[in-house]
Amino acid sequence: MPKRKAVQAELYSPDAAGNPCLNGGKCGTCGYVFFPPQRYGCEACGAPPEKLEAVELRGRGRLHSYATVHLHQGKDIEAPFTVGLIVLDDGPAIRAMLTERTDAGLAVGDRMASVLVAAGTDADGNEMVELRFARAEAGR
Ligand SMILES: [Zn+2]
Repeated sequence: MPKRKAVQAELYSPDAAGNPCLNGGKCGTCGYVFFPPQRYGCEACGAPPEKLEAVELRGRGRLHSYATVHLHQGKDIEAPFTVGLIVLDDGPAIRAMLTERTDAGLAVGDRMASVLVAAGTDADGNEMVELRFARAEAGR
């Protein structure tokens, strides 16, 4: 049966309700939370890799900075598009594409929420989804 699959499954995955879960990590020694996941050891206290555990991060945060790309040579993405740096409520910052194609109406400090957008189907008919951030509704 076709499923929803993340384009970058190591970074995020749909939860049971279809909302994105970000795959982060946490240090069992000092509590440092990080994203993206890595297995080298804690970059805050130097604890070895076996002290790191996987944690799911909520895709909620505040917009720290953003930039709109108006000319893009690659064929993978059509310009314009906007990239934002979002500081997650759970601690780490994540650089991600926004659903807004331009920065009209965006402001540093805006509440942001992660969403999964359709990105075609794979050879097995699974619906592929990509992570984006969108301005959150008030109260989210
Ligand atoms: Zn640590």
